[in-house]
Amino acid sequence: MPDDVRNVKYVIDLGPRPSLPVAGSDARFPVGRIYCVGRNYAEHAREMGHDPDREPPFFFMKPANSIVEDGSAIGYPVKTKDVHHEIEMVVAIGKGGKDIPVEKALEHVWGYGVGLDMTRRDVQGEAKKMGRPWEMGKSFDESAPCSALRPAATIGHPAKGAIRLKVNGELKQQGDLSQQIWNVQEQIAYLSGMVTLQPGDLIYTGTPAGVGPVKPGDRLEGHVDGVGDLTISYR
Ligand code: MN
Repeated sequence: MPDDVRNVKYVIDLGPRPSLPVAGSDARFPVGRIYCVGRNYAEHAREMGHDPDREPPFFFMKPANSIVEDGSAIGYPVKTKDVHHEIEMVVAIGKGGKDIPVEKALEHVWGYGVGLDMTRRDVQGEAKKMGRPWEMGKSFDESAPCSALRPAATIGHPAKGAIRLKVNGELKQQGDLSQQIWNVQEQIAYLSGMVTLQPGDLIYTGTPAGVGPVKPGDRLEGHVDGVGDLTISYR
């Protein structure tokens, strides 16, 4: 790597770095990688046909540029007839590290947001059936809506409180952060044993029960107590 990256000339332009607004600030949070935890609420594991025994957590990823900001209207995704909503609390990592112990894990958290892990359920189901990676079911354009972030320095570290999603005003998903099979500290400890966490990484921490399809024209309103709200609509 050159010593002074400001003087590097690139042969193509990548455009702006993906980032998220910070509530009450004009500074933004730069988004590096997006990790998502699978089956982290027992009722959701059951509705997906799995035994919610405390197996080790597992992770998949979305690209940083799949972020969609609060208030956006997005198009129905391509190559699917069954897009599902998954409302999730999002953890924003401020300090990287590897093999982070559970009792130090929250020191690595910069803040929190409200996110949607949008899923092409039909594509994911086909991949599962064929023993292939989930990627094309999970990692696609505009698949990671996220609210403005709030710093832990202001809101603390929410470990309990309602998480819910309404679609067109109707309650579809409801749970409590305390129902997470693996809490935020444990997720960070485990994930940082698999990869070196970097500042700017996001972790989508899993969805409570009630996932279901969206259709064009739907308005999705997510909420996490103490963290905030997220509104997204499908054109
Ligand atoms: Mn999810």
